[in-house]
Amino acid sequence: EELPADSNLVNYPRQVEGVCYSWVDPKTPSQPQMLHLSQTLVDEWKAGISDSEELLKVMSGTKRYQGFQPYAMCYGGHQFGHWAGQLGDGRAINIADVLVQGQPMQLQLKGAGPTPYSRTADGFAVLRSSIREYLCSEAMHHLGVPTTRALSLVKTGDLVMRDMLYNGNPAEEQGAIVCRVAPSFIRFGNFQIFAARGEKEILKQLVDHTIAHHYAHLGSPSKETYLAFFQEVLDKTKNMIVHWQRVGFVHGVMNTDNLSILGLTIDYGPYGWLEDYNPGWTPNTTDAQHSRYRFGNQPNIAVWNLVQLANALYPLIEEVEPLQAILDGYKDAYMRDYHAMMTAKLGLYHADQVEENFINQLTELMTDTELDMTIFFRELSTQIDLGFDAFWKIVEKTSYMDGAAMNQNKVKWQTWYLDYVARITKEDFDSIARQQKMQTINPKYVLRNYMAQLAIDAANKGDYTVVDELYQLLLKPYDEQPSYEKWYAKRPEWARTKVGCSM
Ligand code: AMP
Ligand code: MG
Ligand code: MG
Repeated sequence: EELPADSNLVNYPRQVEGVCYSWVDPKTPSQPQMLHLSQTLVDEWKAGISDSEELLKVMSGTKRYQGFQPYAMCYGGHQFGHWAGQLGDGRAINIADVLVQGQPMQLQLKGAGPTPYSRTADGFAVLRSSIREYLCSEAMHHLGVPTTRALSLVKTGDLVMRDMLYNGNPAEEQGAIVCRVAPSFIRFGNFQIFAARGEKEILKQLVDHTIAHHYAHLGSPSKETYLAFFQEVLDKTKNMIVHWQRVGFVHGVMNTDNLSILGLTIDYGPYGWLEDYNPGWTPNTTDAQHSRYRFGNQPNIAVWNLVQLANALYPLIEEVEPLQAILDGYKDAYMRDYHAMMTAKLGLYHADQVEENFINQLTELMTDTELDMTIFFRELSTQIDLGFDAFWKIVEKTSYMDGAAMNQNKVKWQTWYLDYVARITKEDFDSIARQQKMQTINPKYVLRNYMAQLAIDAANKGDYTVVDELYQLLLKPYDEQPSYEKWYAKRPEWARTKVGCSM
C-alpha cells in the first residue's frame, strides 16, 4: 500500500539542484474524457491496456502504473538566443516506460499539472494547443519525419485561464492532456543546465546514461565516445531539418530546450506549414520582429543550437578542436543532403549533375510567385512533361498572387522550365516510375494551419469529428484519397492571417 504523496510538497516550483529529475504527482482531472486515440500507435503498443476505462485513467493521470513513479525532468536552455537558466518539464510528466514494437518507449503526459519546473505557470495545457500537438505529431510521423508521437488526446473537464490575445484579459479555456511517446524526451537543455551550474558529475551521469540507453553502439564512456556521440546528434539533427525543409514545416520555437538529443521533432507549439513558399516566414507571432526561427533559418539555427550543446559537453572533453571539427562539417553535409532532397522532389536522381543554382532559381521563383509549396511539388510529380502551357497552368493555379503580378515572372519561369525538362530528358528515367517515386517524397496532404483551426473550432463546440477526419487523412499523406479531395486545396482567403496557438 502506498500513501498518496503530498502534491503540494513535491510539485511546488523551485530551483532544483543536483539532480536530473524530480518525482511528481499528476493532478487528477475532475471529468476526464477520451477525445481521440491514435489507433495505429495503440496497435503498435501490443501489450498496451485494452480496457478503455483503464486507458483513460492512465492517460489522464488519474491512475498510476504499479511500481512506476512519475517524474519531471530538469533542463535549461537558450530561448531566442539568450540563456534562460532552469526551465524543465513545467507541464510534462513521464508516467511509464513501455515497449512499442519491442522498443523501449516513454509515455509522457503534457498538461497534467504543475511540477517543480512550472515557474510561474500552471502546468496545464489547453484543448486547442493539445489538438495541434496531437494531430501534428502523428501527421509528421506518417510523413516520415523523425518526431515524438502522440497516443491520446484527453479533455480534463477542468478550465484553464489563458491570455490568448496577449491583451491582459485572460479567459477560461478547456484543459486537455496529450500523451506523448518517444524513446526519450531528453533535450539539449538537459545537458546545458548541468554545464551551466558546474555540476560536472551529474552532467557525466546524464551523458553516460543517454549513450548507454540510446547510443549504446558507441561503446563505453571515453572522450572518443563523447565526440562520436556529438557527431551522431549533429547528424540526426541535420537529418531532421532536411525533412522539415522537405515538407515545409516551420517549428517556430527552436530554443535549445526544444531540441531533442535523438533528433526528433519535439514541442509542437506555434509551429506552422509553408503555404506560399517564403523562406522568411515564421508562424510564431512573438518572433515576428526578428524572425529568428523563420523557415529559411532553420538549418542555421540547428547549428547554433549544436554549438550550445558542444559547449555543454566540453567539460567532459576539454578540447575545443575536435568539437569544432565536427561542427565545421555541418554546413557541407547539410548542403549535400538538402541538395539531394530538393533534386529528388523534382524527380532528378543524379543530384551531382544538378548545380545548386538551379535549385536556388526555383525557390526564388516560388517565393516571388507565392506558390503553394505542397500543391506545386505534388502537381509537378503528376505532370512534368506536358509542355510549358500545362506547366504554367499549374503555376497559376498554385499561386496566391493575382494574374497580372504573376505574368511578370512568366519569362523567368519559362527559362527555368525548359532547363528542367532538358534535365529530366537527359536522365532518361522511366516517367511512370519517376512519377511514383516523386509521390513518395512530395506529400499530397499536410496539416495546414487552417485545417487544425477548423478541428479546434469544431472541438470547442463539442464536435470531435474534424479531429478524427484529419487524423485519418494524415495517416496516408502520400496517397491519393479522393474522398478527402477538399483537403488538397490552397489556404482559403479567410485563413490568410494565421492564428498562433502557442500556449
Ligand atoms: P516552450 O516554449 O513551450 O518550449 O516552454 C518553455 C518552458 O516553459 C518549458 O520549461 C515548459 O515546460 C514551460 N511551460 C510552458 N507552458 C507552461 C505551463 N502552462 N505551465 C508550466 N510550464 C510551462
Ligand atoms: Mg519546450
Ligand atoms: Mg511548448
